[in-house]
Amino acid sequence: MSELPSEVPIERPYPYEAPASQALFDRAAAVTPGGVNSPVRAFRAVGGTPRFMVSGTGPYLTDADGREYVDLVCSWGPMILGHAHPEVIAAVQAAVARGTSFGTPGEGEVALAEEMVDRIAPLEQVRLVSSGTEATMSAIRLARGFTGRTKVIKFAGCYHGHVDALLAAAGSGVATFALPDTPGVTGAQAADTIVLPYNDLESVHAAFHAHPGEIACVITEASPGNMGVVPPQPGFNQGLKDACAKNGALYISDEVMTGFRTSRAGWFGIDGVAPDLMTFGKVMGGGFPAAAFGGRADVMAHLAPAGPVYQAGTLSGNPVATAAGLAQLRLLDDAAYEKIDAVSARIQALVTEALTKEGVAHRLQTASNMFSVFFTGRDVRNYEDARRQESFRFNAFFHSMLASGVYLPPSSFESWFVSTAHDERAIERIADALPAAARAAAEATAA
Ligand code: PLP
Repeated sequence: MSELPSEVPIERPYPYEAPASQALFDRAAAVTPGGVNSPVRAFRAVGGTPRFMVSGTGPYLTDADGREYVDLVCSWGPMILGHAHPEVIAAVQAAVARGTSFGTPGEGEVALAEEMVDRIAPLEQVRLVSSGTEATMSAIRLARGFTGRTKVIKFAGCYHGHVDALLAAAGSGVATFALPDTPGVTGAQAADTIVLPYNDLESVHAAFHAHPGEIACVITEASPGNMGVVPPQPGFNQGLKDACAKNGALYISDEVMTGFRTSRAGWFGIDGVAPDLMTFGKVMGGGFPAAAFGGRADVMAHLAPAGPVYQAGTLSGNPVATAAGLAQLRLLDDAAYEKIDAVSARIQALVTEALTKEGVAHRLQTASNMFSVFFTGRDVRNYEDARRQESFRFNAFFHSMLASGVYLPPSSFESWFVSTAHDERAIERIADALPAAARAAAEATAA
């Protein structure tokens, strides 16, 4: 049962107070643009005051006002064992006690790389970095250095971090040269990016045909979660790989979100399509800033100091981050993935049941244990489809869940994440919260 006061009137948009979070948000806004260090945290899409969290245990987060929430964000993916897992914390404490950064090679980074390579057959070598953005940026540079070509194909709605060239997402339709999506990215930086509609192999073939010998790589989310969950249609990833192979380009699978989450070997463990390069982050860092890119040894051999393509990082392979990541990965055995899949399936069923009962048109889309809800009556196959949903219904749904002690991603364009720590009590809280949230979604009207 929800532990929140039962008198909370959940019909109104933002009925509950969060005075301590609001005070922190006011302080934050004075010293940090928009009051946050990553934009989606600011609740701009859903409105209201972002919750400032002070602690996490298992599937729960506690905010500055002392309210507890079942967490279905899991730090946007990394906390796959739940918060403050005792074995991860112990590994971190042991690492911290030995010193926090040496700027030299260390055994922890070798062990983490070995664990990753062991899990994913096409991953022959990896280079550790500190964020997913750094991983995709470096993979693109390496692809360009390896092929001697300049152009990059990406898909509208796929997010690969805030890499200048990859922030271009100039809509859908026929192959188009991207316009920058944000001030600060110049036309020149985006000019070599070709943005195509997701799940559309014809447009990929057309782009290769239009630019013979110019395309260095295709980068795609292994299974996209950044426009909500929009899995690849059967054969799409294989089609990308084949098109790349035929045209001398590299196929880069961005597994920052799916890696070590959707299976022991990430999305590769599900579709078996072997990329030339892959990128990782989130789960492999155990809640610390650790990420990686890797793949074919002959391609990775072009990376400095083995080869000419420069890439570096003061804190790359940091001993505390690698200890956390390694401890987390070692706990992620087959039983752990079975548990996550089962928890995810139960929550999916509860959400579907509640929304169906209230007659709310929706599509719950899944990619293994990742899932999200689109408030639309039609299947979502690409970004254009995703944008056609009735997001105002999600916003009402979100705030009702929040008022009932369930923390969802504060945007309808994000995957929901669960962990091995989501137990019966957490699922019961979600089940209790859903009927009112579904009603709120049903009754919501566009602003
Ligand atoms: N690639 C994907 C698929 C992501 O989901 C993200 C972040 O959400 C990134 C890259 C960027 O990772 P980071 O936020 O660690 O820079």
